[in-house]
Amino acid sequence: LMQLAIPLNFMGFVYREIKQALADVEAMFAVLEIPQEVTDRPDAVPLEVDGGTVRFDNVSFHYDPERPILHGISFEVPVGRTLAIVGPSGAGKSTISRLLYRFYDVTGGRILVDGQDVRSVTQDSLRRNIGIVPQDTVLFNDTIAYNIAYGRPEATREEVEAAADMAQIGAFVRALPHGFETEVGERGLKLSGGEKQRVAIARTILKAPPVLILDEATSALDTRTEEDIQVALDEVASGRTTLMIAHRLSTVVRADEIIVLEAGRIVERGTHASLVERGGVYAAMWNLQRQEAEIPPPPPQPPRPP
Ligand code: ADP
Ligand code: MG
Repeated sequence: LMQLAIPLNFMGFVYREIKQALADVEAMFAVLEIPQEVTDRPDAVPLEVDGGTVRFDNVSFHYDPERPILHGISFEVPVGRTLAIVGPSGAGKSTISRLLYRFYDVTGGRILVDGQDVRSVTQDSLRRNIGIVPQDTVLFNDTIAYNIAYGRPEATREEVEAAADMAQIGAFVRALPHGFETEVGERGLKLSGGEKQRVAIARTILKAPPVLILDEATSALDTRTEEDIQVALDEVASGRTTLMIAHRLSTVVRADEIIVLEAGRIVERGTHASLVERGGVYAAMWNLQRQEAEIPPPPPQPPRPP
């Protein structure tokens, strides 16, 4: 038995090491915005932005051919407008944002930014014009200032601090012994999910791109902070083409169009008022969330171990 136990134990160790290595690679790709699946075409040209209209034209997608994820998705977000995407977890909402950012290429249809197919332009030019606040932010092992300025390295310290203030993280950072020079990440200060999200929001505020993707950008925040940040996000979103994926429907009420995604299909679309009046899936979600809002929230969870 001892003979067997040792190798098994060792295998467990190896397995954990490999798993950690894979997780690190994934985190690195996410943080460096390196394409895992796509490369520039030899004839790729820089994207020429004229306002930033986003169009999905009959887009379908699968990660694995055995399992289609998106089916015939079409929508247009005109310059400066906001499209909200709602729907249950696993519906394909984040996949839509990853396709626009071109982490993956569509498997059918096309995605256009100001009339240019995202596959025909350089990824660098595409990503310079899109700001994304992802669901799970991974920070660089560097200072807070570096992490905020990443989207616009030439920004001044004043601009970095102003962005941090808008994202409701400025006061927190100034109270740290090393302030904006505090090292974060694996070997530095561990930030909570909500704090990381606010750093990502500050980065996006500073980058001020023509196209904005907010993927449940305020989901890790408490209601109070969420309301404060929502004001800042509304400010950044105004005048920018915005794709807003939202968990709490209170944040999508003012969107120009809302699409309800279920199992990779658009099942309803319209404004908040028209969808509530329609009395379908969206109206049911809205009524449910309104009822939940009247019930006091559960007590705060103890902090998670790192
Ligand atoms: P949502 O954001 O609506 O919760 P996602 O777009 O993240 O949904 O995921 C849609 C579906 O695609 C889910 O079933 C999920 O398991 C699957 N999926 C997401 N990412 C990957 C991936 N990298 N490889 C394979 N399947 C994935
Ligand atoms: Mg998601």
